Amino acid sequence: MTALLRATGLRKSYATGRAGLFRPSARFNAVDGVTLHIKPGETLGVVGESGCGKSTLSRLVLGLAQADAGEILFDGAPLPRADTDDWRRMRIRMQLVHQNAAGALDPRLPVRAQVEEALRIHKRAPERAARALSDVGLPPAMAARYPHEMSGGQLQRVVIARALALDPDLLVLDEPVSALDVSIQAQIVNLIRDLQAARGLAYLFVSHDVAVVRHVADRIAVMYLGRVVEEGPTAAFRTGALHPYTRALLDAVPVPDPGCRGGAVPRIGDPPNPAAPPPGCRFHPRCPFAVHRCRAEPPVLREFAARHHAACHRIEEIA
Ligand code: SF4
Ligand code: MG
Repeated sequence: MTALLRATGLRKSYATGRAGLFRPSARFNAVDGVTLHIKPGETLGVVGESGCGKSTLSRLVLGLAQADAGEILFDGAPLPRADTDDWRRMRIRMQLVHQNAAGALDPRLPVRAQVEEALRIHKRAPERAARALSDVGLPPAMAARYPHEMSGGQLQRVVIARALALDPDLLVLDEPVSALDVSIQAQIVNLIRDLQAARGLAYLFVSHDVAVVRHVADRIAVMYLGRVVEEGPTAAFRTGALHPYTRALLDAVPVPDPGCRGGAVPRIGDPPNPAAPPPGCRFHPRCPFAVHRCRAEPPVLREFAARHHAACHRIEEIA
């Protein structure tokens, strides 16, 4: 099957700070050679700590940021340049949902009017708003409310409805449940899954939380300091992650025991500064398996099992 989205060798750099008379502006690659694809109706989960480049990747895919290098194909055609008519047409098919639902809504308008407005902007029938809002579990009485009259979970439903009303093929979900209480997270995650089953949507689901990603994704890509370090079918992440970083993330998944909260931080110390990535394997300062070669030579992604790739010199030894 042809991919709905195919990104090859994506690279995006930012300046690390303001340049001065004696301080030329250094640049770092927030996304450093990322290749991925998503088939129609499929969910690719992208997981990693803050600063790993996953939000930059989302923005590149949507055309909200321009890659320095690499190629993005959407439905077989190159992504049009931002702010062109072609791009606006394409953007209807590729919608964004991010974590800050309240910030994405206008406090002065009832939420239903906001979904209708999005439809009008894109020259779609505003009547579709009611259906989209009911599809996300918001009855008409609720849709008449203003954002401040709604809970965080309800606001996230509104934002999802607004994206869905346009009938997209791909939703980019950037930390869609991170701002919500744990009890509400499961409801929204299940809603996201149900909507996909009903509509055949494809998802790029970006999160720092590997437990959530494992619950929704068909395939998972793990990012570390701008690079994909492991990628494969979700089942492979249940039975045997390969990369030491992925293993650390999985170890950090809190067990569903109310007395055991707050364990979701990997026990490998704080993430390094993304603006100054270490040489060789970027994970080496935190890796319990690091050897001299790891400090000198960057590992490349290799296939270790069917469609299961990892970038580590020592997979065979530590398996
Ligand atoms: Fe650890 Fe070396 Fe593998 Fe990097 S290449 S993850 S430092 S063992
Ligand atoms: Mg982010």
